[in-house]
Amino acid sequence: MRLLFEEITGKTDRYSIADSHWFPSTLDFSVVAATATISVSRQDRETVIIKGEILGRCNLVCDRCGEAYETNLLSEFVYLATTREEDSLGLVDLECSDEDALMHYLNEPIIEVDEILREQAFLAVPLKNLCREDCRGICAGCGQVLNNELCRCKPDTSHSPFAVLKKLKKQ
Ligand SMILES: [Zn+2]
Ligand SMILES: [Zn+2]
Repeated sequence: MRLLFEEITGKTDRYSIADSHWFPSTLDFSVVAATATISVSRQDRETVIIKGEILGRCNLVCDRCGEAYETNLLSEFVYLATTREEDSLGLVDLECSDEDALMHYLNEPIIEVDEILREQAFLAVPLKNLCREDCRGICAGCGQVLNNELCRCKPDTSHSPFAVLKKLKKQ
């Protein structure tokens, strides 16, 4: 979806995007289902404000065990788009009440909504993806995913001579 900068007025327009066509599936991150809601209004002659929310589910790959898993996707954002020049020697006064807002400098007077949603979805994903808090990962020795299977490296260490030595040391 694209919005023309000139057509955005002082009154708030709301859009609901019920599918996730805007999200390209990558190998380790895909959006299963998501609804995005955005409201757009003009802040001043050169700036528009876009508030949005993405709610849905996504597929990620666990950083520890390498298995795919499904989890919630939630993003809330405030985005400012301006036709002002970025290089005005730091004289740009953001005049923004929302400190968390991101200022985006437009090359053309067009708001690419899909691009904004894509960017926000990526930002919503944590830096470290874990399929579950206590994911046991992969055994470096035998390569087993330890959440589902037992390690195949050491059959039973309690009968080894070293285990006996440990016992002696403890006494
Ligand atoms: Zn995992
Ligand atoms: Zn192992």
